[in-house]
Amino acid sequence: MPERVTLDGVTKRFGDTLAVDDVSVTVEPGETLGLVGPSGCGKTTTLRTVAGFETPSEGAVEFGGQEVTNAPPEARDVGLVFQSYALFDNMTVRENVEFGLKMRSLPKVERAERATDLLELLDIGELADRDPTTLSGGQQQRVGLARALAIEPRVLLLDEPMTGLDAKLKSRLQREIGSLLEDLDVTALYVTHDQAEAMVMCDRIAVMNDGTIEQVGTPDEVYERPANDFVADFVGTSNRLAATARDGRLDFGHATAPAPNGDDGEVTVVVRPEAFELGGGPFSATVRERFYLGEHVRAVAELPDGESLTLRFDPTEAPAAGEEVSLALDTDRVHVLPEP
Ligand code: ATP
Repeated sequence: MPERVTLDGVTKRFGDTLAVDDVSVTVEPGETLGLVGPSGCGKTTTLRTVAGFETPSEGAVEFGGQEVTNAPPEARDVGLVFQSYALFDNMTVRENVEFGLKMRSLPKVERAERATDLLELLDIGELADRDPTTLSGGQQQRVGLARALAIEPRVLLLDEPMTGLDAKLKSRLQREIGSLLEDLDVTALYVTHDQAEAMVMCDRIAVMNDGTIEQVGTPDEVYERPANDFVADFVGTSNRLAATARDGRLDFGHATAPAPNGDDGEVTVVVRPEAFELGGGPFSATVRERFYLGEHVRAVAELPDGESLTLRFDPTEAPAAGEEVSLALDTDRVHVLPEP
């Protein structure tokens, strides 16, 4: 049975550096929780606290309701997949996968069976007898994952496991490993600075900034209803427009639109590029730049007040640079940020 992982008021200081600041979050049994945020925000330190490589300065870590705050890593039964967690190069792929089972004195036949099953599952069965140093980055990453899963960990911890892979392989592995994590029913924490990767791989995402969690939610919630300016900026591309909310309407100065949520007053409105539709108003803007990206065209347009908008169009209908466009808003996709 997968375990629930709870961090309760976890704080970690390194001398004067406050790496993690009072983080409380629960990873539900079987869930993959992404920890995302910019470099240095405390993701890895949080993960290392769960693994047992760091002891929190304050707060507690629990697995399945049992406190493990001071338990050493080997007593926690965690599976680790780190970018820098190199495979043992004096062992074959199969021996790498069996290593943790050997340490746990599992009989040879069972070890071999479990390794075979996992290698098949990860589609690297034919690599079993290879020396890991002769494998590609993507193949090594799969071996690393098979090795971590072999011990049937209570909790699986992954730290930037896709770093260094090319874009195409990354996107394939994201889909494959994402659905594998779903099928395996293992509780997992997934650290990445790449918010798009977290959105593909994770059931929920915790957005970290400066040692604290700004928001925890499903990819959908975090994208469509960011809790604050930081999350709106970090997750995806967002247009943030100043407006006055009054009587259920948003007044942008040069245009007005229905207000979907929020109180009256001066507000910040988050509108994703795809929430603007070409034609029909109420916004008018001049296209300043246009980038053809294959599946879509990204454009930067200027509003009458000089503010820039990032827009996204189907290549068949994208306006040209210099063109004046009229833009409608999909009101369901407009989000008014709560007051800070
Ligand atoms: P990145 O995406 O760059 O890996 P991160 O979000 O994982 O960043 P952490 O590695 O957790 O961030 O680091 C958080 C803060 O704690 C940083 O300011 C870092 O310099 C500091 N820090 C981390 N480990 C140590 C350490 N062992 N000693 C001193 N400071 C540390």
